[in-house]
Amino acid sequence: MAGLLMQRVAVLGATGSIGGSALDVIARHPDDMRASVLAAGSNVDALVEQCARHRPDHAVIGEAPRLPALRDGLRAAGLPTLPHAGARALSDLVAGDGCDTVVAAIVGAAGLDSTLAAARAGKRLLLANKESLVLAGELMLQAARDAGATIVPIDSEHNAIFQCLHGREAGPEVRRITLTASGGPFRGWDRDRLAAVTPAQAVAHPKWSMGPKISVDSATLMNKGLELIEAHHLFGLADERLDVLVHPQSLVHSLVEFADGSTLAQLGLPDMRTALAVGLGWPRRIASGVGPLDLAAHGRLEFEPPDTATFPCLRLAREALRSGGTAPAVLNAANEVAVSAFLQGRIGFLSIAALVEDALAAIAAEPAQSLEALGDADARARRHASHAIATGAIA
Ligand code: NAD
Ligand code: MG
Repeated sequence: MAGLLMQRVAVLGATGSIGGSALDVIARHPDDMRASVLAAGSNVDALVEQCARHRPDHAVIGEAPRLPALRDGLRAAGLPTLPHAGARALSDLVAGDGCDTVVAAIVGAAGLDSTLAAARAGKRLLLANKESLVLAGELMLQAARDAGATIVPIDSEHNAIFQCLHGREAGPEVRRITLTASGGPFRGWDRDRLAAVTPAQAVAHPKWSMGPKISVDSATLMNKGLELIEAHHLFGLADERLDVLVHPQSLVHSLVEFADGSTLAQLGLPDMRTALAVGLGWPRRIASGVGPLDLAAHGRLEFEPPDTATFPCLRLAREALRSGGTAPAVLNAANEVAVSAFLQGRIGFLSIAALVEDALAAIAAEPAQSLEALGDADARARRHASHAIATGAIA
């Protein structure tokens, strides 16, 4: 009987931080769910190791030339898992009948096609890949509505709001949503100090253990900017009703204020397994492995407004949200190029915001009715930012 009701989960970005947390939660419920598809970008060894542990039906490696290595690795481990490679194979598997639930945890715009494929196929979509929402939020939400897909946000803030709203959109009874932000590793720093920040300092987040790209986004506050745009799409709220509040303890994950003056919040330890368990179990509550919250031991909860003069990325994201159309796609693409250049030591920390601001100024926002228009804006912004880095215009 359990077999018939077994939830089959595709974990995309399985070898990453969110992917690992998802597999941890899934493995706690062997009678109710199992990983049926695992996908990663390029690390074949890590993927094969996960296959040995979780026994999925399919494994997908993003980089096509690594398919023979994946096939050999699975065979050497004596696994019946079928090997696949490339973005097309991944989208086909996600849309096919080998999974009911998709954990979309690939980092960056590279995750757009597979995330959209899950929405279009009406799957339960545990959406961590926030860049795909920033890039194509309207199309994503429309596809999910048309196909009857349930989206559960896997971002601690949006998952908190989802819980406070019981999975519904924010209607007129919601006065305001407040996203909390840890403030990142450089909270309280001035721009002189920020100029000398190294990649190692930027990826060392005080409260959350995450992949390198989102860690840098948290340090610049671009992560909170992307989350404003994400919240706008997920909950259908205009930018005036979305606020950001810095909360260094990262225990209150966001707040929803209602017309009657009530404010609901969701609290918990900073561990993404809670959000993943909400998504995997919804509307039931299931074990996640996350321990209890001892507020007396923590003692204090502090709040302060964000410093957008020192950290301009949050302001830039809000402006892109107001401009609408292709502006968020440009913001996201320029940021991806800039973060990658920063992690490679090619530009300084402050140049990340400068590159994004420059791309937004150079590429005028246009209406974005189609995926093609958004893809075009994404490509233009990538070229623009790469050129500014290569020529040393912004270093
Ligand atoms: P990560 O860098 O740890 O993992 C990224 C994963 O994506 C890896 O498994 C990698 O192999 C895979 N990948 C990259 N390119 C790919 C491609 N072209 N095809 C297939 N797979 C590819 O990143 P992460 O921290 O787990 O974050 C993943 C996503 O979740 C990001 O969009 C991030 O913003 C979001 N998110 C993460 C957290 C967190 O706590 N880590 C919290 C909220 C949201
Ligand atoms: Mg978040």
